[in-house]
Amino acid sequence: MNVNVNRFANLYSLFQFAVSQKLKYPKIRLQFAQDTVVVKLAGSKSRYEGELMVTNDAGYGSPDNKYFGRIDKNGAIIAGRDLTQAVEGLLEEFAANPVEVAQRYGKLTGNCMFCDKKLDDPTSAAVGYGPVCAKKWNLPHSAAKQARASRKAPKAEVDAAAQVAEANLNHDDTLERAEHGYIDRPEDRVPFDSSICITPE
Ligand SMILES: [Zn+2]
Repeated sequence: MNVNVNRFANLYSLFQFAVSQKLKYPKIRLQFAQDTVVVKLAGSKSRYEGELMVTNDAGYGSPDNKYFGRIDKNGAIIAGRDLTQAVEGLLEEFAANPVEVAQRYGKLTGNCMFCDKKLDDPTSAAVGYGPVCAKKWNLPHSAAKQARASRKAPKAEVDAAAQVAEANLNHDDTLERAEHGYIDRPEDRVPFDSSICITPE
């Protein structure tokens, strides 16, 4: 077996988790020199439905459009015409260490790599993504941890950020609801709030 075939299995799993969290259009942005590398789930209109498309997101038909390739359900990359070693390396780095790469992207751009929103809240700016994206993508968000460490001398803004983070961490009651016989109705689902990476004042 060629181990390289499953190089991106982690990346694929991450997207599967986001889908399980009812994220309808999971997408990540990676920065490479002046280029943006975007990985997104192919939708039902694509012949590659369920696979991950890697482009610069310029849009199909745009002269600037770059197609780096796609990652299939086994975590193998099928190279596209614009794939370079650097882009492949960046994808590998993210697959191996999403937390660190997300943090670097956040610091570099000031935006969350998952939802593209500005990281206004200091905790999210430090972590590199907001509490909701952390939950949707199964990544740690350190606000609650930081608040616990400073509980003896609480700061209002740290506590507020921690409360938001903890509420988000604890709000998924799907399993509990299922155990109590509630039906998961689409209208009950909380829509993905794209403004959530900014902690409200
Ligand atoms: Zn986000």
